[in-house]
Amino acid sequence: MIQIRNLHKTYTMGKNTLHVLKGIDLSIAQGEMVSIMGSSGSGKSTLLNVIGLLDVYDHGEYYLNDALIKGLSESRSAHLRNRFFGFVFQAFNLISVKNALDNVALPLYYQNVGRKKRNRIALEYMEKMGMRDWAEHMPGELSGGQQQRVAIARAMISRPKVILADEPTGALDTETSYEVMDLFQAINVDGVTVIIVTHEHDIAARTRRTIRLQDGRIMSQD
Ligand code: ADP
Ligand code: MG
Repeated sequence: MIQIRNLHKTYTMGKNTLHVLKGIDLSIAQGEMVSIMGSSGSGKSTLLNVIGLLDVYDHGEYYLNDALIKGLSESRSAHLRNRFFGFVFQAFNLISVKNALDNVALPLYYQNVGRKKRNRIALEYMEKMGMRDWAEHMPGELSGGQQQRVAIARAMISRPKVILADEPTGALDTETSYEVMDLFQAINVDGVTVIIVTHEHDIAARTRRTIRLQDGRIMSQD
């Protein structure tokens, strides 16, 4: 589903350039659950953002479901992004002035689904994440683990083929981290490809394959 060949990315800031991804070769099949590890600055988030069509690359090839991702218009890229990917972040990124249910329903709002229908579907996803009773609560009233469950429900509501999670347990204690990993595993068992960036070995150990990045290169991937 994801095939990357000799992919390079350089950030340019004025006169300075930073070569961040230096020839990445990577294939991820549909239904896989993989982790990406590496020290801070090794290019993990950049790679995840390129995969999720949040950022572009300079050289090489990226095929998503056999379609070459290169030179896409912003609208084409947004269309593919919405169809393929759900995103989960370390800091949850919930909208603080909207309650949990509205946060989960938000992607459907952007798809012009009516309020009644989107709230009904959002409640189903809240239920799946064990958060049904918290639907009316504001993010600030929820624990970190609960906020991440809401964020995962929001990522899942548009039925993505791939979940991209950037250090999703980075702000959580160990027990809560494992609960969140249980959710990702259940999502993966349902056929969704899951890609998790993490610093933590015990989190990586719960995926079937670990891709190790060092200074923009893949050191190992088994
Ligand atoms: P990681 O997620 O592994 O910590 P990143 O992919 O976030 O690494 O960053 C890799 C390198 O690229 C870092 O040196 C970082 O400072 C730099 N970087 C990341 N994003 C940008 C950006 N938008 N502009 C310029 N440099 C960036
Ligand atoms: Mg990062």
